[in-house]
Amino acid sequence: MQASMQEFPLRVSEIIDHAALLHPDRPVFGRSIEGPILETSWREIHRDAKKFAAALIGLGLKKGDVVGVMAWNTPRHLSVWYGIPGAGGINHTLNPRLFADQLVYIINHAQDRFLMVDFDLLPVIETIIDQLPLIEKIIVMTDRNHMPDSKIPDLLCYEDLIAAQPNGFDWVQGDEHEPCGICYTSGTTGDPKGVVYSHRSNVLHAMANCAADMMGLSSNDRIMPVVPLFHANGWSIAYSAPMVGASVVMPGRDMTPQGLFEMLELGVTFTAAVPTIWMQLLQYLEQNNLTLPSLEKVIIGGASCPRSVVEMFQNKYGVQVLHAWGMTEMSPLGTICSFKPEIMEMAPDNRLDIQETVGHAPFSVSLKITDDTGNDLPWDGKTQGRLWAKGAAVVKRYLKQEHDAVDVKGWFDTGDMASITSHGYVRITDRSKDVIKSGGEWISSIALENCAVAHPDVAEAAAIGIPHPKWGERPILVIVAGETRPDISEIMALMAAKFAKWQLPDDIVFMAKIPHTATGKISKLLLRKKLAAQNYMLPV
Ligand code: AMP
Repeated sequence: MQASMQEFPLRVSEIIDHAALLHPDRPVFGRSIEGPILETSWREIHRDAKKFAAALIGLGLKKGDVVGVMAWNTPRHLSVWYGIPGAGGINHTLNPRLFADQLVYIINHAQDRFLMVDFDLLPVIETIIDQLPLIEKIIVMTDRNHMPDSKIPDLLCYEDLIAAQPNGFDWVQGDEHEPCGICYTSGTTGDPKGVVYSHRSNVLHAMANCAADMMGLSSNDRIMPVVPLFHANGWSIAYSAPMVGASVVMPGRDMTPQGLFEMLELGVTFTAAVPTIWMQLLQYLEQNNLTLPSLEKVIIGGASCPRSVVEMFQNKYGVQVLHAWGMTEMSPLGTICSFKPEIMEMAPDNRLDIQETVGHAPFSVSLKITDDTGNDLPWDGKTQGRLWAKGAAVVKRYLKQEHDAVDVKGWFDTGDMASITSHGYVRITDRSKDVIKSGGEWISSIALENCAVAHPDVAEAAAIGIPHPKWGERPILVIVAGETRPDISEIMALMAAKFAKWQLPDDIVFMAKIPHTATGKISKLLLRKKLAAQNYMLPV
């Protein structure tokens, strides 16, 4: 017997077609790179995406060709996001904050043929263009009036290209398993690794992401992705929002609290970014006595969200926090901390404890924890182990690697350490390489850091293990002070109330700045190097 149902390839072009048909006039606002805040709609983004796809084919793009895109979050970027796969190409997101040699590596490794770039980022490309032999065309994402002078000859102007196209282009069709986008991992050790998303994985992932117990995104929302589209598949928001017909606000390149607040005032109900963005915004709101009247939900992930941030958003501003975990290799959604009924029943303080976890996985993501030899560990909320994932939008093999990134049963080692409660709520305790092992026991660097940043004068904290002759390793805390330098004894008192004596840091070191990766995470590798360069020694 054969199933009676139609073939319906899960291609991302279907998403933008759906938005244009069912939500054509839903507003999409954006701070343009040229300056002003503009308003457009799914109808117009769809129209421009089709014109841009036609233009790419006119320029010689063939199915499977890779187009590198270095651009901020703007409505124009949304048209490009759909135009490239709609023309049969592969959208390779480029993070302008990467070191030049990493950019050269990933552009050459993915074999990008064309490059798209916001005009303010052209200098980044100019410094490396001599090392990019495969690039044939560079399209500057602006209008004729803003085309920059450049040493690069024959730059193409995006608005000229699309203005020259008629309406009515038909999307390039194909199998749902065809590649659609590429994002490289941040590469804190070794070369960055390419994760190639398929049309199917992106569509299924966006459906899982929108579900009520995940982001719970709907056409009644106005969502502002502060997380750049070039981080971890843009947290899927460029797929999820048009899939449900949500209105969107694209914040452009201005990531200052003032800039973001101005965009939030456009009636944003939902927003998404890493914790550091929100710490700065909350401080700005406090200092200027401002409120967030339209904002209902904020999704915080990419790094552990301190309890103090959750409390402030929820108790002071009435904004529900959704703590989330994921990674580039998972498209990126792994878990979101929404409340199941058994959590809803809890007292508010106990719910806050749950919000220190990153929540539970959606359908299409399976998780397990194991010990170092691969034995499954219980979901008792206490036992910690290596976290593994499997799913419809989880990596199987990195681009051009000889071997799979999964074990024989198809499980991917996330590199994170976690415990899982009986309700399936995951607590991320560390990256496996960052966990502090003292006297045979594990100390969670994330838990130490989150406790330290609860002190009002601590702007940022990083806990690392320092080799110790008796205990193997002992934790120390590196701290960046806020406006006033915090009192060490106060921080220690805060920590003593939460941790056993042997888990407390042996030392607190002040630094003007903690090094970060290009995706804004604390780089413990560079931090260790910095301490070594200062000949740091544990106190005796
Ligand atoms: P990336 O692929 O660059 O987004 O990095 C993914 C990694 O970020 C994960 O493997 C985690 O180590 C970390 N991460 C993401 N979200 C969280 C979170 N909510 N809490 C703790 N770590 C997180």
